Amino acid sequence: MSEERSLNFLEEIIENDLKSGKYQSIVTRFPPEPNGYLHMGHATSICLNFGLTKKYPGYTNLRFDDTNPVTEETEYVESIKEDVQWLGFEWKNLRFASDYFDQLFEFAVKLINKGLAYVDDSTSEEIAQQKGTPTEPGVNNQYRDRSIEENLRLFNEMKNGKYPDGAKVLRAKIDMAHTNMLMRDPIIYRIKHAHHHRTGDKWCIYPMYDFAHGQSDSIEEVTHSICTLEFIPHRELYDWLIEKLEIFPSHQYEFARRNLNYTVMSKRKLLQLVNENHVDGWDDPRMPTISGMRRRGYTPEAIRDFCERVGIAKREILLEFSLLEFCVREHLNKIALRRMVVFDPIKVVITNWTNEVEMLQIEDNPEDENSGAREVPFSGELYIEREDFMENPPKKFFRLFPGGMVRLKGAYIIKCDEVVKDDAGNITQLNCTYIPESRSGNDTSGINVKGTLHWVSIKESISAEIRLYDRLFQVEDPSSEEGDFKSYINPNSLQLLTNVHAEPALKNAKFTDRFQFLRKGYFCLDKDSHGRLVFNKTVGLKDAWAKEVKKGS
Ligand code: ATP
Ligand code: MG
Repeated sequence: MSEERSLNFLEEIIENDLKSGKYQSIVTRFPPEPNGYLHMGHATSICLNFGLTKKYPGYTNLRFDDTNPVTEETEYVESIKEDVQWLGFEWKNLRFASDYFDQLFEFAVKLINKGLAYVDDSTSEEIAQQKGTPTEPGVNNQYRDRSIEENLRLFNEMKNGKYPDGAKVLRAKIDMAHTNMLMRDPIIYRIKHAHHHRTGDKWCIYPMYDFAHGQSDSIEEVTHSICTLEFIPHRELYDWLIEKLEIFPSHQYEFARRNLNYTVMSKRKLLQLVNENHVDGWDDPRMPTISGMRRRGYTPEAIRDFCERVGIAKREILLEFSLLEFCVREHLNKIALRRMVVFDPIKVVITNWTNEVEMLQIEDNPEDENSGAREVPFSGELYIEREDFMENPPKKFFRLFPGGMVRLKGAYIIKCDEVVKDDAGNITQLNCTYIPESRSGNDTSGINVKGTLHWVSIKESISAEIRLYDRLFQVEDPSSEEGDFKSYINPNSLQLLTNVHAEPALKNAKFTDRFQFLRKGYFCLDKDSHGRLVFNKTVGLKDAWAKEVKKGS
């Protein structure tokens, strides 16, 4: 697909930069804040940044933006590393903004020495008040004219812990009347007596985002620093700081955030879902997190394909979850092992069968010529799906009914002769006969049937639990609805099936296996499978969200 499409705007910029000789190779970075697990939006950013340096000479760094000591945790760092690798990307350098705290401190000192930064004792309310509004300029306060010497002394005292949180800040000295509010003497350092997950108690002052991000880019000689649209107003400050500090001229480029419908993407909201037990952790298969999608059985190939198809844009739109599912289905169709599992059984007795068990060879995946076959036992007592039988079928019902015939997948044609009921009138058993000459692959019976059913042999079958998932929210864009986004959670997003019978080959299911349960959808083993089998439904065989769902034989 990448060969066919035209270049996106970033690729155009990069090709020009390489052609003009501005750069011989490029450097990008993926800069997550370790305050949550990565979601699908991050996946688009990862695919973009790492994808560019796969396509063009250069490399990508993974850099944790860990300048806020309070929210960041090692658990998140580890999960982010795992997710990037699982998606199939390798970073050149693993960095933390906190690696640069010494250097950033020196940068701040340099600004002070150039008369371009000052220590301000105002409260945050005063600072906000003095800042003006988009239509009114801000005002200079008495701290703005402090001497370089005084600023150096105070800034060092801030660093040495002399002042409590909030007592002072360091601000860049730009222009309190600037049309861009972010240029009105932005705060670049604040006091925070807090333990940092990597630097411990070494620091009690921490750089603000705007004073860490661009500077970290420069230190790493990032050529193309790609971020989302809300950072457009920050670009002016990004450029100003680089110019005044006389450091490597990284450039910032913006693209639109990618969000999926029927879910929420912000880490803050996802954290609420986890903390308030609406889901079973960050990796709940209904979560739009990368770890959730992995647990649900999505593949990195499918996610990369999705990101490539949606490309990048300058305008925000909600992406269709069903397109992501389409990509998942496309990939799984190629790689999934076919297996038979009966979700809601009804017993079939083959009255003309001898007592023996016949081992049939049934192919693992007709879409993959290199795949093999597994043995499936066939016997005189089978389960089929209850919904595959109707006592009084409508026209064009091609499944089983009294007097009707169907093929059992990979086995024989059977005919339903008799329906057995209990005293209450419930169907308990179907008595059938099989056609010995109709064995799949060697069918000389001359009988044509329209329906093929999946089945298992009762005695050899194994039991399993199945978890079916629906969308987590009932509305397309929960974040834009009135009130709490959580009031739009779909109460039926998880359905458990416990009376499930699977063919014995599934006894050896591995976590990395991907399965197609015939006529049911794609499934994978869940991490809760210890001593028992639990399968997650990854995605259906067809788009279940399409307006008209075809239910057929
Ligand atoms: P959130 O609001 O979900 O917490 P964030 O932007 O605060 O997201 P970061 O960890 O700061 O998350 O983001 C790391 C990188 O991922 C940034 O470059 C950011 O622009 C990008 N990113 C985050 N969310 C999306 C999204 N929905 N679409 C595209 N890129 C995103
Ligand atoms: Mg953030």
